Amino acid sequence: MTAAASEHADIVVAGAGVVGLAIARALAMAGRDVLVLEAGSMIGSETSSRNSEVIHAGIYYPRGSLKARLCTEGRPLLYHYCADRGIPHRAIGKLIVATNDDETAVLGGIRAAAAGNGVTDLERLDARGILALEPALRATAGLYSPSTGIIDSHSLMQAYQADSEAAGATIVCRTPIVAGALTDDGLVLETGGEMPLALGCRLLINAAGLGAPALAAAIAGFPSAAIPRPYLCKGSYFSLGHTSPFRHLIYPVPEPGGLGIHLTLDLGGQARFGPDVEWVDSIDYAVDPARAVRFYPAIRRYWPDLADGALLPGYSGIRPKISAPGAPAADFRIDGVIVHGVPQIVNLFGIESPGLTASLAIAEYVAAMLA
Ligand SMILES: Cc1cc2nc3c(=O)[nH]c(=O)nc-3n(C[C@H](O)[C@H](O)[C@H](O)COP(=O)(O)OP(=O)(O)OC[C@H]3O[C@@H](n4cnc5c(N)ncnc54)[C@H](O)[C@@H]3O)c2cc1C
Repeated sequence: MTAAASEHADIVVAGAGVVGLAIARALAMAGRDVLVLEAGSMIGSETSSRNSEVIHAGIYYPRGSLKARLCTEGRPLLYHYCADRGIPHRAIGKLIVATNDDETAVLGGIRAAAAGNGVTDLERLDARGILALEPALRATAGLYSPSTGIIDSHSLMQAYQADSEAAGATIVCRTPIVAGALTDDGLVLETGGEMPLALGCRLLINAAGLGAPALAAAIAGFPSAAIPRPYLCKGSYFSLGHTSPFRHLIYPVPEPGGLGIHLTLDLGGQARFGPDVEWVDSIDYAVDPARAVRFYPAIRRYWPDLADGALLPGYSGIRPKISAPGAPAADFRIDGVIVHGVPQIVNLFGIESPGLTASLAIAEYVAAMLA
């Protein structure tokens, strides 16, 4: 049973990842009273700091999906915000490379799907055009996406935090929400950590990432049928132990179930390959060095000169999936009263890629839901 509230807030955002912080920023800047509760000891230490740090163009997502819409809306907002706030980022562009005739035949469909999402700047390249951009690649043809870029995600989150706090929001770490109950005019939340308390609020925005389904389930009175089953899909990265010969992001033609082992660069020019796909039962971020065995042949299809032993275990992230292995990837779910019938809660489920790119657009979407 949940205790009577000893403290009160208007809106509580659960989770200080890039999405929770973006939402807190938007709501605080709109004059709302916002308290962010974060389970970890610092902001953004889960999925938001365990990703590829790519600003996605919005090429592959199904037309009409929230992923397509919020990525293509969020990308220009993010570039503008980064420029405005001096956040390290660069629109370095991405190459999608085909390595045989079958893959070349797929490129037209990718370009058409991208155009359907409003991404109309993809350029078709032949083998010579690719070599002119990236001499180390072996490819039969490709597509170039000039609006794909890279970003320092931690600087981004610090800027969201600074904006939120300047607008009056409070962000408290080491404070997991462990239970809650609906009341007539809001909720009572119980927090864990060193100073557990019962907190009354009018509205809970559940942006707890991997923990979002469990948090929704911990709110007494919330309908369990409105909570998707979570699946954990780990992605491991291997970094290149020497200077990268590439200046652009390099992606193979997507394969069923994933984008294939691709190369991304950080702002320092360091290359990393991945993430791969591994369905797991629990959260463990250790990278198994043995997984490199599957990276070498995949990468050598488009970069034959990759030397034995060049790949070093890097880091990993876990995609907060709400679709089962083998099933089509589910869309983002941003569920408010219209979906689940509970006016006191907005749940964000399945905010995998492109959640970083889309963060400002997700925040606008949530703010509009509440307006
Ligand atoms: C391998 C990988 C690569 C990716 N690459 C890209 C990319 O290149 N570009 C892109 O746009 N997107 C990418 N993404 C997606 C992007 O990283 C996520 O969409 C985004 O980081 C999600 O942010 P979030 O705030 O929802 O979740 P999180 O960052 O996980 O934040 C949720 C927070 O909630 C906290 N929390 C959990 N439970 C509770 C609780 N009960 N009480 C309080 N706090 C709680 C957690 O501690 C955590 O800090 C990638 C994701 C993965 C896994």
